[in-house]
Amino acid sequence: MGVEQEVYRHGKLVAAQIGHALPARCVTCNRPAQALFFKELSYLPWYLWPRETLFTVIHFWSRGRFSRPFEMYRTEIEIPLCATHDAKRSRSSWLLYVLMISAFLTFFAGGYFSENIMGFVYTAGGLFLATLLVFLFQYKPFRLRKIDQRFVWLSRISPEYLATLPELEI
Ligand SMILES: [Zn+2]
Repeated sequence: MGVEQEVYRHGKLVAAQIGHALPARCVTCNRPAQALFFKELSYLPWYLWPRETLFTVIHFWSRGRFSRPFEMYRTEIEIPLCATHDAKRSRSSWLLYVLMISAFLTFFAGGYFSENIMGFVYTAGGLFLATLLVFLFQYKPFRLRKIDQRFVWLSRISPEYLATLPELEI
């Protein structure tokens, strides 16, 4: 990753030029970063969904004779986090993983081993619900708003972090 100057604030958003590193402070608490959270990002603007869906259907019906590349914006990013917030992020993704696996195992174990399956169904249902709740409310260091030709746009970044960035003039 390159120099830091190509990262801006715009309102409550961070606009990071594609391929440039974010300043090495935690995006949540602005303390010095001790970890980088690597994430692959993809983004398709909502107004392109109908067109892309249509092209996918045509591709399928024509058995691949008519095809074109899917025009989704893709990039990668490294999100700087302090030790505390990196640990928090990793804990919640593990919890999510464990809950989801338990839900599936319970569901299938119920099918194999039980005469009275409802107990397993309720347990699995509860675990799926817990998975959903953890997924919705877990700590997320950022939210991807969009990717365009030049920038990756992120929200949920702390005001302290934003305040240290130059304003983007557009
Ligand atoms: Zn932090």
